[in-house]
Amino acid sequence: MQIPAPLQPSTRILLGPGPSDAHPAVLRAMVNPLMGHLDPEFVSIMVQVQEMLRGVLKTKNKVTLPISATGMAGMECCLMNLLEAGDKVVVCAMGFFGQRMIDIAGRTGATVTTLQAPWGKTFSVDEIRDTVSKVKPKVLGLVHAETSTGALQPNIKEIVDICHEHGTLLVLDTVTSLACVEVDIDSWGVDAVFSCSQKGLGCPPGLSPISFSDRAVEAIKNRKTKVQSWYFDMTTVMSYWGQGQDRVYHHTAPISMIYAIHEGLRLVLEEGLENRWKRHWHNHRALKAGLEALNLHYTADAACQLPQLNAVRIPEGVDDLKGRKFLLEKFGIEVGGGLGDFKGKVWRIGLMGYNSKPAAVLLGLAALEQALANQGLKVDPGAAVGAANKYYAQA
Ligand SMILES: *Cc1c(COP(=O)(O)O)cnc(C)c1O
Repeated sequence: MQIPAPLQPSTRILLGPGPSDAHPAVLRAMVNPLMGHLDPEFVSIMVQVQEMLRGVLKTKNKVTLPISATGMAGMECCLMNLLEAGDKVVVCAMGFFGQRMIDIAGRTGATVTTLQAPWGKTFSVDEIRDTVSKVKPKVLGLVHAETSTGALQPNIKEIVDICHEHGTLLVLDTVTSLACVEVDIDSWGVDAVFSCSQKGLGCPPGLSPISFSDRAVEAIKNRKTKVQSWYFDMTTVMSYWGQGQDRVYHHTAPISMIYAIHEGLRLVLEEGLENRWKRHWHNHRALKAGLEALNLHYTADAACQLPQLNAVRIPEGVDDLKGRKFLLEKFGIEVGGGLGDFKGKVWRIGLMGYNSKPAAVLLGLAALEQALANQGLKVDPGAAVGAANKYYAQA
């Protein structure tokens, strides 16, 4: 075999559903020298990560930590720990990721009841009340920001209240919402939450922040059977993360990723959560003005559109792959294609974390104008960029 040349990956602008571009300060944090994962100094860094993560999730939950894997592992970890054979669970699916929750919940041996919403729509509080009061499940699984459709599930607090009336724990997927739109774990009362490092937090993929309420920890302690997963069994992971300098070896924390999330979380807190949410809405409105000028229509209802993930229908006569290839080759821009029902029909344009900024909006729109014109669509040059700039001038 011929030994490949050293890597020289091209510079991209990641305007898809994730990963998003990492903040340069995060990448700089990662080149720091490695330490042992039981080094007292590293343990202090892990404690700081937990404290900052509580700040970003707005929770006082003791069990709050990033598990050493991506967002899907966070989903699996929450469901595996809270469910066992014989339990009942309701999963609300309004897109691709809700569908995955159904799959994982089923693998625990629990009885799964599913509630489906059409892609692009969300659930009403009444629908959820009807099902929860009938089934009285141990767990309700819900996706906050459905990345496949670009829809934001509203009324989380009301839904949690209904759950708690019936002794149900709420598991919330905030993989795409955390550090982009409002997430307020304690005042909403969410029992288990998971997220990821590579979307709103502006870090590389590799960590999944999770948090369990006392109620959820109690439920884990009261299990009749062992958690089926060894790696994600919280009863042991907790004694690695939760006992300061007295920790027992569980697995080797991914040192450089912990440096990364330390910087990512620090930057979120420095900016301020509310400012960060506002920034995401602000740049979304500019992008939306531009997309509308190009006659691109959102897949999610106007009332529940995500600011950080803009899913739009690909216009008639435009080829999905050809369009995305054009953007990548000509501009180094990545946008996402559709998943599941939306495959080949939808483009997903992300403005997450570090990339929620006018530079990304304006370049993305300028490139889209060319990509659509390249496939024979009639595009007025500057129409989209002009509409976005008109928004910025007034805002
Ligand atoms: C991206 C995403 C996931 C999966 O996260 P990975 O980091 O890709 O494992 C889960 N849920 C939602 C809503 C997502 O957007």
